[in-house]
Amino acid sequence: MRYDTLIRNALVIDGSDRPAYPADVALLEGRIARIGDLQGAVAGEEIDAAGRVLAPGFIDVHTHDDTVVIRQPQMLPKLSQGVTTVIVGNCGISASPVSLRGAPPDPMNLLGSQAAFVYPRFRDYRDAVDAAQPAVNVAALIGHTALRSNHLDDLYRTATAEEIAAMREQLRASLEDGALGLSTGLAYASAFSAETAEVLQLAAELSAFGAVYTTHLRSEFEPVLEAMDEAFLIGRQAKAPVIISHLKCAGAGNWGRSPQLLASLEQAAQEHPVGCDCYPYAASSSTLDLKQVTDAFRITITWSTPHPELSGRDLMDIAAEWRTTLLDAARRLQPAGAVYYGMDEADVRRILAHPLSMIGSDGLPEDPFPHPRLWGAFPRVLGHFSRDLGLFPLHTAVHKMTGLSAARFGLKQRGEIREGHWADLVLFDPARVRDVADFKRPQQAAEGIDGVWVNGVRSYAEGQANGRRHGRFLARQGDLREGFNG
Ligand SMILES: [Zn+2]
Repeated sequence: MRYDTLIRNALVIDGSDRPAYPADVALLEGRIARIGDLQGAVAGEEIDAAGRVLAPGFIDVHTHDDTVVIRQPQMLPKLSQGVTTVIVGNCGISASPVSLRGAPPDPMNLLGSQAAFVYPRFRDYRDAVDAAQPAVNVAALIGHTALRSNHLDDLYRTATAEEIAAMREQLRASLEDGALGLSTGLAYASAFSAETAEVLQLAAELSAFGAVYTTHLRSEFEPVLEAMDEAFLIGRQAKAPVIISHLKCAGAGNWGRSPQLLASLEQAAQEHPVGCDCYPYAASSSTLDLKQVTDAFRITITWSTPHPELSGRDLMDIAAEWRTTLLDAARRLQPAGAVYYGMDEADVRRILAHPLSMIGSDGLPEDPFPHPRLWGAFPRVLGHFSRDLGLFPLHTAVHKMTGLSAARFGLKQRGEIREGHWADLVLFDPARVRDVADFKRPQQAAEGIDGVWVNGVRSYAEGQANGRRHGRFLARQGDLREGFNG
């Protein structure tokens, strides 16, 4: 037997949360063909891992990479972290199915300008991903706000029965064409007016497909527990699994409440499939939200359409220079993006370490001065949180970004190193791996990621993408509820 690739002397962390073990791994025709002592085997390409870790490629379960996978298919911010699959369409915003009549409403503008929204049907988006051949695999959710933008003349009210029927039809067609489920961004003004009943009626489409409900909660501030209850109610009634997006305690008045949030999540999990994702930073980022403007913590401006020169500056300094209030300055900067230093580190660690949490970057690829999570989230969990702080073992860190994520989103034959699985792999040095991107210089590749394979093809090595792009569109497979057992 001659293999395509043979990776010798690896320390395999297989993604299942079991500890590392030494092995050779052979790849053939895009898949993992053999794992074990393969001394006599031959291959077209042989790599000596020299005891470094070989893990399943990381799955970024929370991204806004919808349009960037098509426009910049090299996907360097993700590939350089060891990410081999991205899930797009989070927080109620998706590139499809969308037919815009003007500029994209906030926060759909996080995905690009009006020109980026050219997929009136989910099938069009799927075809465009296939044609672009991105370097990473892509699976997609359908955004509630995106559906609203198609059918409501005014986003600041709840939908009528006719509008809900029209949205349901588009959601159903998208699920038939392989979407993973429905996402909402109820905290944003463009969806906040949607009553629970509106979301419930849309979510009613999910169970026939075994599809998932993911949600950027209606509030991450003081009413966060009530917002979680709303999410669980929607999931239970719709018979759909619930993933809470970027679970956090936002706002100084909310710090220290993560045990309550996690207790609520655990309790819900006893009766219903639920989980959450989170990113490993105590600062959030999104569009500049006037409701979140405060002097209780630092806010930096990442982009501003009227004032692009102020990217990277503190809102407080801008307001002082303009001799005005924070709120007035924020108004004058709109539309804009911001980083909010609004979380407590202890809460972040507690949520990150919880067995129900997966890692998702929530990176914003369109941002000219992005939150460093875009380039650093996964190595930061491996290096800073697992190795340096000892928050959890390395194999648990890997599980939270591979096996657990693949199970929750029904990504079959991915997320674990097993014979027969797709060869999405990352080779990294556990002693060197670290995030380099920070809030001052946010666009820097991680260190210690020494090789990345996507569907069996090495696409990143020696700190460089090599131009090979072998990602695929991953349509929903089977019933996602099955991935929540155990
Ligand atoms: Zn969000």
